[in-house]
Amino acid sequence: MLEIWQETLNWQPNQIQQQQFQQLYELILVANQHLNLTRITTPEDFWEKHLWDSLKGIAQLLNTSTTSPLRAIDIGTGGGFPGIPVAIALLNCHVTLLDSTRKKIAFIETILPQLSLNNLTTLTGRAEEIGQQTQHRQAYDLALIRAVAPASVCAEYALPLLKENGLAILYRGQWTEEETETLEKAVKELGGVIESIETFTTPISNSQRTCLYLKKIATTPANFPRPVGIPTQKPL
Ligand code: SAM
Repeated sequence: MLEIWQETLNWQPNQIQQQQFQQLYELILVANQHLNLTRITTPEDFWEKHLWDSLKGIAQLLNTSTTSPLRAIDIGTGGGFPGIPVAIALLNCHVTLLDSTRKKIAFIETILPQLSLNNLTTLTGRAEEIGQQTQHRQAYDLALIRAVAPASVCAEYALPLLKENGLAILYRGQWTEEETETLEKAVKELGGVIESIETFTTPISNSQRTCLYLKKIATTPANFPRPVGIPTQKPL
């Protein structure tokens, strides 16, 4: 796998990181027997859809030499993706793993000590509420969000949490021009712009993926995120 990391991300995990990825896989497999965290269980699928996919979204950061500390939040982290692989790969980044399902956060809390990671924090709650709390609003450099909601809903969850100039990374599958137009309007209302859209194929199954990079350029109006459930009922 080291060659594929190098060829596709121009980056390789060191020995400790390789052990942490392997351990994460084993812990997820065991927990999956009773928690139903993921349908992805073969080693290849786990590598591609959980590890590689999580890190592809932050590929630019893997290859920068900056050591200035970053604060990231993974919104709707589920079993810990993309947040745990990102915390393993970016040692200068403190990642908060947020999910509304207590059971999922409880699972993550049981495995963290075994991964020997000290740059991860867990948080149970709804993104709509967390985004209105002063200790989290405008507090993060990076917001990661994968497989949680339609793109404009993800933008409404993510942008209020970012500092100005912060970056939201929306991990998506297929993507269309029409979706870009709808998202552009929503992002503008939230104080952001679509900085770039990157479409790529995954190295093993050749599936299509898209990462949307949203930059926060102005303060998000105080009424966003709207109360729990409203972003999904009435997407911007
Ligand atoms: N991001 C993970 C991944 O890609 O494997 C998990 C995706 S899972 C399909 C969606 C997760 O988002 C669930 O764990 C759910 O509890 C969480 N979620 C959905 N809406 C949320 C919200 N408004 N605030 C926080 N978490 C939310």
